[in-house]
Amino acid sequence: MGGTEEKYVKEAFDSNWVAPLGPNVNQFEIVISESLSTSIKYHTAALTSGTAVLHLALRILNVTAGDVVMVQSFTFCGTTNLVSYQDAEIVFIDSEPETWNICSEALAQAMSDYKGKKVKAIMPVHLYGMPAKMDQIQAIADQYQVPVIEDAAEALGSSLNGQSCGTFGLMSALSFNGNKIITTSGGGALVSKNKEYIDNARFLATQARDEAPHYQHSQIGYNYRMSNIVAGIGRGQMEVLDDRVAHRRENNQRYREFFKDIKGITFQTEPSSNYFSNYWLTAILIDPMLTGGISREDVRLALDAEYIESRPLWKPMHMQPVYKGSKFYGSGVCEKLFEQGLCLPSGSNLTDNEFDRIFEVLSRIFKKSS
Ligand SMILES: *Cc1c(COP(=O)(O)O)cnc(C)c1O
Repeated sequence: MGGTEEKYVKEAFDSNWVAPLGPNVNQFEIVISESLSTSIKYHTAALTSGTAVLHLALRILNVTAGDVVMVQSFTFCGTTNLVSYQDAEIVFIDSEPETWNICSEALAQAMSDYKGKKVKAIMPVHLYGMPAKMDQIQAIADQYQVPVIEDAAEALGSSLNGQSCGTFGLMSALSFNGNKIITTSGGGALVSKNKEYIDNARFLATQARDEAPHYQHSQIGYNYRMSNIVAGIGRGQMEVLDDRVAHRRENNQRYREFFKDIKGITFQTEPSSNYFSNYWLTAILIDPMLTGGISREDVRLALDAEYIESRPLWKPMHMQPVYKGSKFYGSGVCEKLFEQGLCLPSGSNLTDNEFDRIFEVLSRIFKKSS
C-alpha cells in the first residue's frame, strides 16, 4: 500500500457509503481515465475483477454460442474463461518472439481461414506489461472489421508510441487483483472512448435494472460493480502507480545487470524505444543448450530451496486440459516460451537484502564468482 488508501476507505466508513457505488467509485474512475490520457477522453467503469470486465465486454458485443473469438494463447485463464462463459468458440493464436504477445501472421492466417464465420472479437494481451504489436493487430482487425478487446490487465502504466495500454481496444480491460502492479485487493476497470459501452457496462453490472420505481428487468444482468470501500484503496493506489512502475523497471534493470555476461539467458525486452513496459514481472528464457545444461526448472528449484518463489511463464491456454482439441494457429513460439521461461521475483517492495539472497542462489547455479 502507498499510504493514503486508508484515508479514502475511512471516508467511505465515515460517510456510510458502504455499497457497490459511491464517491470513491466515481473518483477512482475519473483518476483512471485521466491517467490513461490527458488529451483524449476515455470513459471507465470500475468493476469487481478484470475477468468480469472482459466478460461484460463480450456480452456488450453480443458474443454468444456459434460465435468465434480469436485469443492470444499465451495468457492467464482470466482472458479466456469468459469467452467460455458466453459459450463462444475460442481460436488460439500463437505469440511472436519479440514481445511474446499475439503474432499478427498467425492471426492473419486464422482470420483468413475463418472468413464468413462469425468472428466477434480479437483479444490481444500485454503480457507481463509488454505492449503487444497493436498497430499490426489493429490493421488486421480493420481489414475484417472485427473489434479488438484489449486485455491490459497486466499493463497499467505501459505504453506504445506514447499511447497508454488500456486505450487501444474498442473496449479495454484493467485489473486490480492482488498480484497486479497496483491493487484494490480485487477489482478491474472497463475502458472505452465510447461512452455508450461504459453506460451499458454500468447497467449490466448492476443487475440490468430498468428505469422504474419497482424492480424491473428486460435483460439478464450481473452483480459486477466495484464497492466504494475497494475503490477507496484504488484511489490511494493510483497515487503511487508511477512509483511502482519505476520500481519494477529498476528490478528489471538489476536482473539485466546480473545476467549480462551469462550465456543462454534472454529477457522479454522492449523491441524499440516506441515500447514502454511497466515490467510488472521480469521474465527470462533459459536455454539449456547455451547454459551448459541448466534449465528453467533447475533455476526455479534452486530458488525454491532457499524459500524464494519464482514461476514458469503462463502455460499456453491451447495446451490446457480444459481446452483440449481446440484450434491453434502458429508455429509453437509460445510453447517454447513456456518450456524455457521463468518469472523472477519482481515485487515493488523487494529490498537490497532480498536481492542479495536471490543473486547468491543465481550466482551459485551459474557459477558466477562476483
Ligand atoms: C489478472 C489477469 C486477468 C484477470 O483479472 P482478475 O482481476 O484477476 O479477474 C486477465 N488477464 C490477464 C492477462 C491477467 O493477468
